[in-house]
Amino acid sequence: MTNQSQTLSCIDCAAKACKKGEVEKYPAFCLTRNMNPELLQEALNCYEEEENHRIMINAANVESEFYGKMTRVEETVEFAKRIGAKRIGIATCLGLLDEAKIFAKILRKNGFEVFGICCKAGAVPKTQIGIEAKCENSGKNMCNPILQAKRLNEAHTDLNVVIGLCVGHDSLFYKYSEALVTTLVSKDRVTGHNPCAVLYNINSYYKDLMADKEEK
Ligand code: SF4
Repeated sequence: MTNQSQTLSCIDCAAKACKKGEVEKYPAFCLTRNMNPELLQEALNCYEEEENHRIMINAANVESEFYGKMTRVEETVEFAKRIGAKRIGIATCLGLLDEAKIFAKILRKNGFEVFGICCKAGAVPKTQIGIEAKCENSGKNMCNPILQAKRLNEAHTDLNVVIGLCVGHDSLFYKYSEALVTTLVSKDRVTGHNPCAVLYNINSYYKDLMADKEEK
């Protein structure tokens, strides 16, 4: 059931007029048209902070120079070089450890020091922190994203790369990582780690996701 009371925002926009600043095409609810100038300025001021400025300039340069040419793996290596990162942390899913090893090799070939920690490190049973025993169907021990972040913090990494942490576990990793984080792989066990596959097939295989849901 569609909720008519929802506030319209960019996700409801067909104009995309902010891309070129075409003022006459902004819809009535447009977030640019109705922007709070103080909030906009507050955000712009943040880019003046040294680290934020360095990241934005280098991210923009990588995008501009290699647009449509470099893969995400290559862009990540290039970005890490340009921000002057020396030690890269990898927070990986155990199930993607082989892929993480390959990425680590690529990083090492490019002169980086690499330190990785997998999600099951610490080998703590799920039930120890109150996860229900029924969840042991996907493994006895818990993923430990806070430990992953804390161990990479201890290793003083300059940039952390997430490889396939579960939904929610990634959220906690982002929350506790002291170094900047970029995500190389978003885990999706069904689509070969390509969440967009569902969105591309929404009119066919995944059309049930768009069916009205009964109110609970
Ligand atoms: S800022 Fe305005 S024009 Fe841009 S996507 Fe949002 S609603 Fe559309």
